[in-house]
Amino acid sequence: MHFDLLIKGGDVVDPGGNRSGKLDVAIKRNRIAAVDADIPAQSAFRVVDARGQYVTPGLVDLHTHVYHGATYWGIHADPVAARSGVTTWLDVGSAGGYNLPGFREFIARPSTARIYALLNISSIGLTAPTFELANLDYCDVDLCCRLIDLNRDIVLGVKARIDRNTTRGTGIAPLQRAREAADRCELPVMVHIGWGPPTLAEVMRYMKPGDILTHCFTGGDMRIIDQGRLRDEARRAWDSGVIMDIGHGAGSFSFETAEALMDQGYRPDVISSDIHQLSILGPMFDLPTCLSKFMLLGMSFAETVQAATARPAQVLGLQDEVGTLRLGALADVALFRIEEGEFTFYDIHMNARRGKELVRNTLTIVGGRELPVTVDGLRQPWIELSEAQQALTERGHTPAALAARPGCRC
Ligand SMILES: [Zn+2]
Repeated sequence: MHFDLLIKGGDVVDPGGNRSGKLDVAIKRNRIAAVDADIPAQSAFRVVDARGQYVTPGLVDLHTHVYHGATYWGIHADPVAARSGVTTWLDVGSAGGYNLPGFREFIARPSTARIYALLNISSIGLTAPTFELANLDYCDVDLCCRLIDLNRDIVLGVKARIDRNTTRGTGIAPLQRAREAADRCELPVMVHIGWGPPTLAEVMRYMKPGDILTHCFTGGDMRIIDQGRLRDEARRAWDSGVIMDIGHGAGSFSFETAEALMDQGYRPDVISSDIHQLSILGPMFDLPTCLSKFMLLGMSFAETVQAATARPAQVLGLQDEVGTLRLGALADVALFRIEEGEFTFYDIHMNARRGKELVRNTLTIVGGRELPVTVDGLRQPWIELSEAQQALTERGHTPAALAARPGCRC
């Protein structure tokens, strides 16, 4: 036998490897060993029938919170990985200096999904829902850099959430410290925006090419549009190489902002979920649901896959290992069906749009092994559904319920 596992008969979509079409994908040990038409079934110990499905690299989610049990927002990554196709998870800022050792020991090491982190400039990370930057004593640049240097295999940058609640009066100072730490460690910084102060203009002054602006399609007053037009400071940053990342979450994706920008030809660099204890309950739900929203906004499935595989992998400098089905890459693979029908999608303001396609994961493989589908981790006792979320659940607006509707082609 040449191969361990053969994914046969599917439609490959691999923007990072520049390949698409009816191709079979063969895995040996934990690596992609062949991508070709009509690889014989007899050449592998096991064959997965992928007919009628899309075969993509495992998704790379650039904005997640997976430090469960020790932070306000954290969810369990593995159960969601198994049902969403997300094989590489970047936890952005759940851990700060003082709880990064715990993140390594209890989250990154035991997880089957690949887990990386951006270290919060606040040494307490996201233990609580917000205010982590309100005490500048927690924004310790030396501590941040020391912990990064000891954990460079998993820490790929610095995170700062900059909005009126996270900073609560410290203004732009936490971002200045995040900038200093990132420069010293020669890593990018990811900045979250929402409702100011500070203003977007103040934030942009501290961002450099290769940095990431997350929540880039927020409807908050730090949004990157002004009366429907991309703001000058955002345009300059984007043109210079700042990465625009969606980070849908529970408070950061507005159809109005998205439509204004996409009508003018702008596409986000990266589509990420900002999945956490609250957003997992809808209307975000999961990364495939986010991809479906961008398809209804006009992107092709392949374009959304690019923005959730090759592009984020490249942003993290992991493009030779993940986010592609190139020969020799890690054997992280996701299978999807695109259900056809009439689906209603909501942004975080509960504005609705109708879509005709729903992306639904059917199988997830990490390092050559299929992930078993299990139940999600527990909802924490401090999480309460908003009225809008409650209504969504009662109406059956979950990805599973949507996909089970009559009219789908599968
Ligand atoms: Zn987040």
